[in-house]
Amino acid sequence: MNALIGEEIRKMKKTVKALAAYQAELPVETVKAKYGLQHLARLSANESVYGPSPKVAQAVRAVSDDILGYYPDGQATELREAVAKLNHVDPQHLVFGAGADELIELLTRVVLEPGSNIIIPNPTFGEYAMHAQIEQSTTKKIPVNVDNGHVDFDAILDAIDDKTAMVWIANPNNPTGVFETTSSIKRFLDKLPANITLVVDEAYYDFVDEPDATVAPLVAEYTNLVVLRTLSKAYGLANLRVGYGIMQDPLYSAMQAVRLPYNLSTYQIVGGTAAVLDQEYLQKNVQRFQVERQKFQDFLTKNKFKFYESQANFIWIKVGETKKVGQKLLEQGFQVNDRLNPEWIRIALGTPEDNAELKLAFLKATNK
Ligand code: PMP
Repeated sequence: MNALIGEEIRKMKKTVKALAAYQAELPVETVKAKYGLQHLARLSANESVYGPSPKVAQAVRAVSDDILGYYPDGQATELREAVAKLNHVDPQHLVFGAGADELIELLTRVVLEPGSNIIIPNPTFGEYAMHAQIEQSTTKKIPVNVDNGHVDFDAILDAIDDKTAMVWIANPNNPTGVFETTSSIKRFLDKLPANITLVVDEAYYDFVDEPDATVAPLVAEYTNLVVLRTLSKAYGLANLRVGYGIMQDPLYSAMQAVRLPYNLSTYQIVGGTAAVLDQEYLQKNVQRFQVERQKFQDFLTKNKFKFYESQANFIWIKVGETKKVGQKLLEQGFQVNDRLNPEWIRIALGTPEDNAELKLAFLKATNK
């Protein structure tokens, strides 16, 4: 009774009341114990099975304990310089955060007024719409091309109205894995009204096997373009929580003002820098993923599965009864993402050994 009265009088954003908490991945050990598994390949969160460069742990371990009582470098100077050099961008165009997640939250917070709207392809990463909802904005979802998964840029342009404040494109897209060329994004940008922010989320950019796969060089030309990156995927550092955005003013200054002053610890700054500097390690793993991606897609083609051509470290596959297939894979030691669509499943690529086993398990789970 008291609780009910409390609910009635409590003041809270209505849009937040309607939200359900993000279903985070269960820890590997919990899943193994539940299904009595010796080995579990976690292929559900698009992490890197190779983990980070060994230089990251070395660098983090070498940090003196003396720093613990002091705030970290709020400008992440060391990381800023390494990232600027890597991407050939102005260091003063970089905003860092605890994963690309924090940048998504901050951009939404900075740009969206209540009553505004955002436009996204469907399907895409769930956080764009979730944060828009928190900011009391609505989301227009434009279906991707059913045959090949490509973004329908013309339909996005048609959906723009005077309340539209942002367009989000994940490139390659999650969960489809589909990559849009730099020239198609540039064409879109040229037609987009300059007061609408375009965020190109390049979380999976490193896995693309085409040259010039990034629109980062366009940031200097377009004040309404933001490019997001993360060290959680190809760099194998999902647990360290390091991401960044490339943008210029007025967004850069607004983001710097709104973000928390010490949002990256020294460990994140030092570890992130070590990761960025070890490009040899990154490229070696990216190549492994590219080889495995081709092998798995060849297998899917041979067995007549419908899937979209992926340029990421995961593949989006039409399996019919997703939950059933997901459960059968789990029982065989493969945790995949069966929560996104009733008919399509998202599977991240594992080690060559796991991928070979996965093919057999997949045929069994789909009764092929
Ligand atoms: N963008 C996309 C498209 C993603 O798939 C993810 C992770 N699933 C993120 C951003 C967030 O990554 P992180 O916060 O770990 O950098």
